[in-house]
Amino acid sequence: MSAAPGWNSELECRLIEARNSFIARHPQSCELHDQARTVMPSGNTRSVLYYQPFPIAMDRGEGSTLWDIDGHEFVDLCGEYTAGLFGHSDLRIRAAVQEAMARGMNLAAVGRAECELAKLICARFPSIELVRFTNSGTEANLMALTAARVHTCRDKILAFRGGYHGGVLLFTPHGPSAVTVPFPFVLADYNDPDAAAAVIEQNRHGLAAVIVEPMLGSGGCIPGKIGFLKALRKATSEVGALLIFDEVMTSRMSEGGLQTRLGIVPDLTTLGKYMAGGMSFGAFGGRADVMSLFEGRLPHAGTFNNNALSMAAGRVALGEIFTQDAAEELYERGERLRASLNGRLMKLGVAMHFNGMGSLATAHFRVPVCRPYMPTAREDRLRELFFLDMVQAGFYLARRGMIALSLPVRQSDLDRFVDAVGGFADTHQCLLGPVDTVA
Ligand code: PLP
Repeated sequence: MSAAPGWNSELECRLIEARNSFIARHPQSCELHDQARTVMPSGNTRSVLYYQPFPIAMDRGEGSTLWDIDGHEFVDLCGEYTAGLFGHSDLRIRAAVQEAMARGMNLAAVGRAECELAKLICARFPSIELVRFTNSGTEANLMALTAARVHTCRDKILAFRGGYHGGVLLFTPHGPSAVTVPFPFVLADYNDPDAAAAVIEQNRHGLAAVIVEPMLGSGGCIPGKIGFLKALRKATSEVGALLIFDEVMTSRMSEGGLQTRLGIVPDLTTLGKYMAGGMSFGAFGGRADVMSLFEGRLPHAGTFNNNALSMAAGRVALGEIFTQDAAEELYERGERLRASLNGRLMKLGVAMHFNGMGSLATAHFRVPVCRPYMPTAREDRLRELFFLDMVQAGFYLARRGMIALSLPVRQSDLDRFVDAVGGFADTHQCLLGPVDTVA
């Protein structure tokens, strides 16, 4: 079956209407974008934040509320693409940052907060015996891959189509992007244990590492099946390659990351996003015999690796705020939210579904989804319409339809979001098509 005849022109009409309303409601953002384009290609410096007709410019945030420069208020469900776990104004994080600033920035020295943050991370993550800090998740992955290649004296890396490991480690459903660093990658399909095991076996003498997100984050919040992840653990151990879990997004799934929830221990783990309370951050860690490469054999530089603000904020964020109980509670809240959203959509019988786990979810316009895919033109338009409708209703989410809950988000706002999504599906039922629609 397909969506109702004439969906194409009807979808176009509704999209034009939604875009026009967006433009009319955001004159200041539009003007800022025009200015920004004169000095930055596309008017921005972070591609994910750009969308048509122009991106909303935010002015400020408090708790889980955002205000744009046009004066609109939003419930923040974007959660800074998972880095905003603590919201925008947690007093304990602010105090830690202010205290660190008062002690002087850029001391060019090791310090207490750095050591304490490292201890917290090693105590929480089963796979991490030793850890080092970076400025971003991208750098953490570059360092982990390099460590694996030096440790194994091998070259190749298995990555998965649709995986994202940073600005220069990006894999579309078709393969590496033009900006991906030229490591000798071999690729396999996500959630296909047999294919992955076969590729690992074929490359058994040259394979240094397998890098995988235990749930694809930007690839659509697609959880890795337990059989798939276990197969990777088994096959890498058999051929002597290292298994790297990229937990930059998924580390929020429990106190000790998604690896703790799954009961799978990788050789190396990479972290980032929320862990320094919203300051820039990355970390890579794992087996002591691999990490001890950095005891003299391999250099690891970075002016801001242990910057005072990130270290101080991280110590409070992990040590005092995102405790085991807080992590469990957030996970359960997210599970309940997704069940409510999907319950609403199922009742309407439309081909729309929220994939994900815990506090992370992404809207898809096909059901079911267990592998990354290239969206059709129709799905792209539906996604845009969904984003514009949610913005109009006062909910800010990632343009690709991803939501990341923050600790301060109010239950009443989540209930209103479920109603807004239900309203969207009801209004556009004929465009979404029935649940058995093949996109
Ligand atoms: N790995 C994953 C799974 C991510 O989702 C991201 C960012 O979204 C990164 C790595 C890169 O982190 P950063 O943006 O801090 O470089």
